Amino acid sequence: MALKSARAEAAERGELQRRQTAVGLLVKGAGVAAVLIAGLLYLLLRAQRRHAAELRIQALRDPLTGIDNRRAFMQRAAALLGEAGAATPVHVLLLVDFDHFKQINDSAGHPQGDRVLSMVAEHLGKTVEGVGHVARIGGEEFAALCPRLGAEAGVRLAETLRAGVAALSLPAAVPQRHVTISIGVAVFDGRHCRDLGGWMRAADAALYSAKSYGRNRVVASSLLPGA
Ligand code: GH3
Ligand code: MG
Ligand code: MG
Repeated sequence: MALKSARAEAAERGELQRRQTAVGLLVKGAGVAAVLIAGLLYLLLRAQRRHAAELRIQALRDPLTGIDNRRAFMQRAAALLGEAGAATPVHVLLLVDFDHFKQINDSAGHPQGDRVLSMVAEHLGKTVEGVGHVARIGGEEFAALCPRLGAEAGVRLAETLRAGVAALSLPAAVPQRHVTISIGVAVFDGRHCRDLGGWMRAADAALYSAKSYGRNRVVASSLLPGA
């Protein structure tokens, strides 16, 4: 009888030990799984954040030239005008349009036209670097936004851009070998225009005049009648 109960006790203890070992293994396994899942979630989240950041950058970049696109330009300009005291310093906006660009596409083909756009975009970006930002705001239209540059320096910069582009040698596949740009310059000083729309209209009117005066030239909106 006593032997029987001792055996039963030993069997019970053995069973208990087995259960404890099984529970211990389960707890360890669950711990490892939790660490693995947490690690996986961390990696997934990091990849998702990087992807979202990359998308945000792409949304503001022109795919052909790699510079700011129109949306980035509008955001930058709106932020500039929204700054406290933005009206006091004289900001400068240059609107740039290629002259007779259609002829380049027609004679050399669209891919060569693309090459010319990229080449000139790089030149504009390098020349404006340090005093402003260049963006491609349309097909063959670019804008340079130059905070606090001042009117005279703005016109000088536009002239430097114009002359620099005219001096560029285009790829041999482009029969013209040279291209020119026209530039409209407008300042934002809190007096001549009230908002971004008015500022852009002023630069656009100056650009239109540069075209009608014969292209390959710079016109400042302050020189236009009624300015
Ligand atoms: P203007 O001196 O009056 O500005 O003449 P233009 O020929 O430059 O002006 P127009 O507006 O008649 O033509 C613009 C040309 O720009 C036509 C269009 O095919 C070309 N263009 C616009 N976007 C691109 C582009 O991404 N790549 C290429 N290769 N050409 C483009
Ligand atoms: Mg043009
Ligand atoms: Mg155009």
